[in-house]
Amino acid sequence: MIKLENVHKYFERQHVLKGIDLNVQKGEVVSILGPSGSGKSTLLRCINYLEKPNRGIVEIGGKRVDAQSAKKADIVSLRNSTGMVFQQYNLFKNFTVLQNVMIGLTSVKRIHKAEAKKQSIEILERVGLANRLDHYPAQLSGGQQQRVGIARALALDPEVLLFDEPTSSLDPELVDEVLATIRKVADEGNTMLIVTHELQFARAISDRVIFMEDGKIVEEGTPEQLFNHPKVERTKQFLSRAN
Ligand code: ATP
Ligand code: MG
Repeated sequence: MIKLENVHKYFERQHVLKGIDLNVQKGEVVSILGPSGSGKSTLLRCINYLEKPNRGIVEIGGKRVDAQSAKKADIVSLRNSTGMVFQQYNLFKNFTVLQNVMIGLTSVKRIHKAEAKKQSIEILERVGLANRLDHYPAQLSGGQQQRVGIARALALDPEVLLFDEPTSSLDPELVDEVLATIRKVADEGNTMLIVTHELQFARAISDRVIFMEDGKIVEEGTPEQLFNHPKVERTKQFLSRAN
């Protein structure tokens, strides 16, 4: 479903991703853990070319894109096959909840307005926001805004959903409702890559957990393997917080 081969990213002279190889199966939920600055966000952003890798191959749903020969059409294709949920929601402030979800369907997927509205309402029902369709983002709690962000990503029915610390901006009492929504989306069989500092959540929701440090995947395995039997000392230290 998703395959990364030897992905490298530099910012100026700083080598931020140092040869990432990763395979994610359809329906798999993979969490990416690691200290601040280890390259987790950069990795997600290289998958959909919000950052262009300097080297390596990104393959999603059979479409292979080599950084050395990536064309504009390839990048559009990667963007359209991914849905991203950001820490800071990134909603359109002057659009209602419904409009925020509809816009991708009408502008990217070119779906007729009436049908886009129907689909958007269905998706907003799934994230528990059917009663907030005409609200503006400023009129919502952070947790509700993030659930709109999730609905917007779901609307395009992407091959993979990418979450970058979806709960880090939230007040503690709002975290659970967003985690519950993400769990529901996972239970629906979506393929998901989740960068999170919520270790217990990662442990509970993931089929596989990846530990990154200094631009490399240090260790990966099932939650049971990583949390209970980490092989690498650094992983052990980092994850001991979750026990
Ligand atoms: P955090 O847990 O704090 O979000 P992270 O693992 O997501 O950290 P990244 O944001 O991927 O880390 O950053 C990895 C390194 O790349 C950091 O040293 C960061 O300063 C650098 N970096 C990230 N984005 C840019 C950018 N746009 N320009 C220059 N350097 C960047
Ligand atoms: Mg980050």
